[in-house]
Amino acid sequence: MLKEKNKLSRRDFLKATGALSVGSILTAVNPLTEAAAGPQKVPTRPFGKTGINVPILSFGGSLDTSMSLLLLRQAFNLGVTYWDTANTYMGGKSEKGIGKYLEKYPEDRKRIFLVTKSHAWTLNGLSQDLDLSMERMKTDYIDLFFVHSVRSISDMDDDTKKWADKKKAQGKIRFFGFSTHSNMEACMLGASKLGWIDGIMMRYNYRRMHTDDMKRAVEACARAGIGLTAMKTQGGGPVNTDSDTELKLAGRFLRKGFTDAQAKLKAVWEHPDISCICSEMPNMTILMSNVAAALDKTKLSVRDIGLLRQYAQETRSHYCAGCADICESSVQGNVPVSDVMRCLMYARSYGNLQRAKTRFQKLPVITRRQITLTDYSLAEQRCPQKMAIGKLMREAVKEFS
Ligand code: SF4
Repeated sequence: MLKEKNKLSRRDFLKATGALSVGSILTAVNPLTEAAAGPQKVPTRPFGKTGINVPILSFGGSLDTSMSLLLLRQAFNLGVTYWDTANTYMGGKSEKGIGKYLEKYPEDRKRIFLVTKSHAWTLNGLSQDLDLSMERMKTDYIDLFFVHSVRSISDMDDDTKKWADKKKAQGKIRFFGFSTHSNMEACMLGASKLGWIDGIMMRYNYRRMHTDDMKRAVEACARAGIGLTAMKTQGGGPVNTDSDTELKLAGRFLRKGFTDAQAKLKAVWEHPDISCICSEMPNMTILMSNVAAALDKTKLSVRDIGLLRQYAQETRSHYCAGCADICESSVQGNVPVSDVMRCLMYARSYGNLQRAKTRFQKLPVITRRQITLTDYSLAEQRCPQKMAIGKLMREAVKEFS
């Protein structure tokens, strides 16, 4: 009877989780109250050739998780047991919060696929970061260890392979790979030829997934048995309503019972070779909305996907595709255009001005000066997204300095 009472239609479920009231979601749509059957869990997929099945939704931990233990608990109970963090997230507070959680619920550790990353540029630095991450998270192993923000596959050299093999032999890491925000397709293709990369996390969304380069890169990684985690799946934020296609999209998804954010997740899950979506879920509303999308089995129609592609094309000049080699070679490597675009994305699409400023201010002073002095006309000519690079670079300096 209780089970029957809690059984909501897909439409009701998505509607409820698309609403803004956390309280109403938790009382009206709480799978944890399904006492008889237990909570529904997010489905899983194989992660490359690791032999591990991971949930299709990962908890993106770029937040102070020590303030979010209830959120982590809820994620765990709903099967969101792939947790992604990095030693730099929130100055270490993200990893420390996970440590707090694991101290409280040590029995959960074996069911969590724990991923962290290091920005270190030396092998010694990687070792130090790995040890610090384990100490902070109160664990004696990391499931998947990423080198963070790789821009060129040449970073994955023989010494790095030896380092990864050694740490695996010591039992400190189970799997090794990298995350990439720039030149993703080239990095992925390169990794597929190496034979020792277990996993990659890359920017992947309805804007990028249809390009020939990305399709080739995903196919090559899948053939090589590399597990793929998609990030930045919202492709630059919510659908606005200042064009016909945008209006059509927003209205169309709402009529079907989706929000546009849920539709964008679904578009990525359509590709069977994407094992998982890593999504930043800073509150219960977003967690529940994402879980609802993961549990829902309705596929997007051909028309839905066509409209998303049309929207991507119409708004391409607002989205940096991360093809850094194109624009940065046009400014003689003086300005890390792709990194500055990433700061703009954090501020404008994710509403996280602090994160944008922190990243921007890490650029050397000389580079920041160079940003305003550089001529971007050649870069703008070559940019496949036709972005107003010069204007955006100047705006970044003004907003983040
Ligand atoms: S600014 Fe243009 S060329 Fe540069 S990374 Fe972004 S999309 Fe590519």
